[in-house]
Amino acid sequence: MDDPAARPFEAVLFDFGGVFIDSPFPAFAASSLELGLDASRLMELTFGPLDEDTDHPWHRVERGELPILDARKEIIALCQAEDLEVDPFRLLARTMGAQTQARSPVVDCVHAIRSAGLKTGLLTNNALEIRERWRAVLPLADLFDDVVDSSEVGVRKPDPAIYHLALERLGGVDASSAIFLDDLPGNVEAAEALGMRGILVEPDPALALVELRSLVLSSAG
Ligand SMILES: [Mg+2]
Repeated sequence: MDDPAARPFEAVLFDFGGVFIDSPFPAFAASSLELGLDASRLMELTFGPLDEDTDHPWHRVERGELPILDARKEIIALCQAEDLEVDPFRLLARTMGAQTQARSPVVDCVHAIRSAGLKTGLLTNNALEIRERWRAVLPLADLFDDVVDSSEVGVRKPDPAIYHLALERLGGVDASSAIFLDDLPGNVEAAEALGMRGILVEPDPALALVELRSLVLSSAG
């Protein structure tokens, strides 16, 4: 049972948005289209490039460098510079609405992984201002050995430093012994570049959970 070849993984790190709850991005894009706006352009203006860590206002919010209301002003100005008279945060508020329930198959999988003796961690790009709201969605202490929130540590995915920090805080887990799940390809690729096993979570997480269970729970059935 403790044969390392039979069970090479020691830890699993999970993203939050798009894994435990629906990603806001598809609904945001759909709302943009309803208003007759260029959805991909508005996404880029609001959130910056999804697969990079830059000085876009949204990224600075997620690194805890900029209050979210200041970012809102900066992003509205970015939109106005392209003749888009819109407050993307209104769209975002609509789309983020009432998701207060986590996806139970994902939660059940985390419990199973913990029961099998692996460490679990949450690694989220997030905003200080919505801390209480998102944390209320999950029983964090029951599910995870550690929670790394970008806005608290001042680093965000896909910067390699935040993956190293998360592995360190789980007790110095080697990257090659860890699995990482996220709904953004850039974040998964960054984890894989460090030697972690990456799993991309699609809008329906079922396939990702099958892959995860096969990697860590196969011997347990
Ligand atoms: Mg996500």
